[in-house]
Amino acid sequence: MPLIERIQHLDEVRTWRGTIQLEGVYTAGVAGERWLRGLQEGKIYGTRCPRCQYTYVPARRFCERCLGPLGEDTWIEVGPQGTLVAWTRLHVAPDGTRLVPPRTLGLIRLDGADAVLVHELIDGREWTSGMRVEAVFRPPAERSGSIRDLLGFRPL
Ligand SMILES: [Zn+2]
Repeated sequence: MPLIERIQHLDEVRTWRGTIQLEGVYTAGVAGERWLRGLQEGKIYGTRCPRCQYTYVPARRFCERCLGPLGEDTWIEVGPQGTLVAWTRLHVAPDGTRLVPPRTLGLIRLDGADAVLVHELIDGREWTSGMRVEAVFRPPAERSGSIRDLLGFRPL
């Protein structure tokens, strides 16, 4: 038998029936974790590509446009104010249940950023693309390093 066993025909495949219990932990990654820690501090960070001058929010470790690295010196604080680019109202949850009241999600371009952030719109009766908004964070004692530390955006 060779050192590396290569299967040439399907009848050579060995199978075992049964179940395997697997556990996994999803991580936000190096940049994602740092970004979430920023939210815990009440700050929103982005990374600005030194070549493209494009600012990503959430922060990234590499530029999706030129594939250049986005190192420590590219991290900048953006917002907490920004412009509502677009929005939509949700009346049905992913599980099919009716949302009462409906939720509103928006694309927000934070001041100092080029990319838009998708998040909840709160405390607003009427939303208009182009209106100014600001971030609303949970009280510091209630933050946990989660995207939910940022409650959403409200009109200015
Ligand atoms: Zn770039």
